[in-house]
Amino acid sequence: MTVQRPEGLSDPDKQELPYEEALHDGAEAETRASEADAEDDAWFPLVLRLGGGARALVVGGGAIGANKTALLVAARAHVVVLAPELCPELARLHRDGRIEHVAQAVSETLLESLLPGARVAFAATDDRSVNRAVARIASTANIPVCAVDDPEASTFITPAIVRRGPVQVAISTSGAAPVLARRLREKIEAMLPGRLDALARFMRARRPEMNAIHPGADTRRRVWEAFLDGPGAEQALAGQEGLATQTLERLARGQGERMGEVWLVGAGPGDPDMLTLGALRLMQNADSVLYDRLLPPEILERVRRDAERIFVGKARSDHVLPQDQINEELVRRARAGERVLRLKGGDPFIFGRGGEEVEALMAAGVPFRILPGVSAANGCAATAGIPLTHRDCAQSCLFLTGHARADGELDLPWDTIARHGQTVVIYMGLGGLASLSAQLQTHGLPANWPAALVENGTRPEQRVIVGDLATLPAKAIAENVKSPALIIVGEVVRHRVISPRGEGDHAS
Ligand code: SAH
Repeated sequence: MTVQRPEGLSDPDKQELPYEEALHDGAEAETRASEADAEDDAWFPLVLRLGGGARALVVGGGAIGANKTALLVAARAHVVVLAPELCPELARLHRDGRIEHVAQAVSETLLESLLPGARVAFAATDDRSVNRAVARIASTANIPVCAVDDPEASTFITPAIVRRGPVQVAISTSGAAPVLARRLREKIEAMLPGRLDALARFMRARRPEMNAIHPGADTRRRVWEAFLDGPGAEQALAGQEGLATQTLERLARGQGERMGEVWLVGAGPGDPDMLTLGALRLMQNADSVLYDRLLPPEILERVRRDAERIFVGKARSDHVLPQDQINEELVRRARAGERVLRLKGGDPFIFGRGGEEVEALMAAGVPFRILPGVSAANGCAATAGIPLTHRDCAQSCLFLTGHARADGELDLPWDTIARHGQTVVIYMGLGGLASLSAQLQTHGLPANWPAALVENGTRPEQRVIVGDLATLPAKAIAENVKSPALIIVGEVVRHRVISPRGEGDHAS
């Protein structure tokens, strides 16, 4: 191999580090700036196969080299790292036999022997002039090379990557704005389902049989599109391969999709930031949504615009739709082929009657998925600044319903509840607060035992009212506290924290 001697490596007898910075003159920089538009078009995205032992050379044994090496190892390349020493991460890869190490300082002679046969090279030292010298030797030898953070010296650049198994989204700004690329990656990261790999693998596994059933590319594409638009995609995402296969087979036989699906999803206590990524995705894919009174408009407006919205209740004792009618409605819609979102405040399995709804779905043979939500207890605790457990005073935490009997009395196991060393969170307890407070004192807690009320927790209008067992009921009346409100009882209330900027305390 003949290599042109680069400026940075001018003296073959003195090939050790450091080299002189070769390219820093101002005139050159200006020319490049005026070529900016041409630069925009100068990059072509590729997905390069490195598996099966393709050699990749990484020059540099520090954090930057380790970063690139990790990507290459993940792509199953045969990685050769050229560096006098390895950082701990690379040393571990070397010990595990995952990379080859050439423990020498970079020199032209070494590069000439290591570069031939390499499919790519990375110049990843922390010295820009060394990287440029390496890049020049490699590009002269026609080996694609990336000088890290130096697109001008590189013949390729690595994109920001979002990865889900075989699915990779690569983002490039053609070297113009790496920070922007990373920001876009964060957005795409949040958009793509976490289990997208399961869906892609499912589709790959079914491809041969689909190609056999439908040799025509057009029909095949339509079947796959119908699969992705229908419940099949969610089934595959959830790892329900059996169901997804049935769905695909029905579509492949041209039978269309008869059975829909119900998604029982927790929407959290009100703050849209507390929605899960999965909840948001299902909200955007649903055909119809059945929702509760507890859900604020900020959440509902994130549901797909053209989804049908059905309000199903429930105020404390004026249920808009009785539970069995809600169950029937879910079954009826799913049977008609809809993807029905049953959206609930908080978590569907914490005082949410989610259990009853899925029992009905199971009995009717309707496929369903359950997605948890942040419950009022942990949501309100966070925004009110009250820890639910604390090393000093609360080793456990009880969630109770304070829904009173018709006679106004609470029917609860008081001896278990009135204890030191634990926090008690009471849902639906506002109406029974006086009775609750009296019972806890009767069963041994002191009158000055701390207690707090969180009204409209996690929302902009949140109020936190702090007192003790003796004072809280009167304060609730004086402050005209309304539902939804959560009661937190225990010494953790004394550990309440308020950020200096007032965050975590929506109340005054
Ligand atoms: N499944 C829900 C609870 C439903 S029961 C969950 O996991 O959060 C309804 C009770 O939850 C209300 O009476 C109130 O006690 C509590 N709650 C729900 N959202 C709340 C909020 N934003 N602020 C305060 N309490 C709330």
